[in-house]
Formats: sequence, C-alpha cells, structure tokens
Amino acid sequence: MPTPVTAIYPGTFDPITNGHTDLIHRATRLFSRVIVAVAANPGKDPMFSAAERVELARLVFADVEKVEVVGFNNLLVDFAAQQNAGVILRGLRAVSDFEFEFQLAGMNRKLAPALETLFMVPAEPYAYLSSKIVREIASLGGNVADFVHPKVKAALADRLALKS
Ligand code: ADP
Repeated sequence: MPTPVTAIYPGTFDPITNGHTDLIHRATRLFSRVIVAVAANPGKDPMFSAAERVELARLVFADVEKVEVVGFNNLLVDFAAQQNAGVILRGLRAVSDFEFEFQLAGMNRKLAPALETLFMVPAEPYAYLSSKIVREIASLGGNVADFVHPKVKAALADRLALKS
C-alpha cells in the first residue's frame, strides 16, 4: 500500500469552474485526501467573497468524500503544514501559465523544502477555461452552462442581477 498523501489545491476559485473540478477529480485518484484551499486574496478584488467561494466549491463537491474545501488567509506553506499536506497541486493550461507557476513553485520550495509542487493538466475542453473568462461571459449575458456547475451558474446570475 502506498503511503497516504494529502494534496492541497490552492487558488482563488472566483468562482470554481469545470476546469478546477476536472483537476480535483483527477487528483482524488492519486491522493488519499484533496484539500481545496480557497485563498481570501482580497488584492484580486474577487466577485464572490471568500465565504461564498468556499460555499460554492462545497456545493460542487458535496458528495465526494475525499475532497474537503477550506478557506485560508495565511501563507500557503504554513497552511499546508497545518493541514499535514505533502503536495501542493496546481493546474497548467497553456505555456502562459508556466512562468508564474514556476516562480511560485520555486518560492514555495525555498520556504518549505519538503513540500512538493505537482502540476496537472486538465482535459482538453477545459484547457482554455479560467474563472476570469467565465465571469466575463456571464457579465455579458453569455451562457456559462458548459463551464461551471449549475449552482455556480445560478450564483453568477444572482450576483450579476444584483449588480445591474
Ligand atoms: P489563482 O489566483 O491562484 O491563480 P485560480 O482559481 O485562478 O487561482 O487557479 C487555481 C489553480 O487552478 C491554478 O494553478 C490555475 O492554473 C489552475 N486552473 C485554473 N483554471 C484551470 C483549468 N481550466 N484547468 C486546469 N487548471 C486550472
């Protein structure tokens, strides 16, 4: 039996998309526990509050026992240690993701040498998907049904109705 390893998947998840979900499902086949760690990230001026982003991700993974969704606002490597995570999981879509992810992984390794960063690639239909694109499509009245969970779609519609 391999040693059980907890992976932590940090991000803003503003909101969680089918690209994130695809990665998380893949990770459940590799790790004993997957923690979706929702960063408060106030600097990004998110559309949804941290509590709302946690709530939406919890709705999406309500039936998946291995997946736990938690919010955090401290240093990722400290939060990973608190959660006993051995792996930081990040997604790579295009080459354009690489430079930032490479810098982040290098810095996290400097801060916590025992914590490994692993990258996963989503299924092809999600390779061009980002939370930002989903927010933009929804705010211009486009249909995001293929990109997010129905409950996330409803939350986007509610948020945008409130704004207009
Ligand atoms: P952050 O602000 O940390 O980039 P995001 O929620 O945008 O937060 O992304 C979290 C992680 O998920 C990042 O590693 C990002 O590259 C990855 N990711 C985002 N969208 C997708 C997708 N469609 N497919 C695979 N990985 C993705």
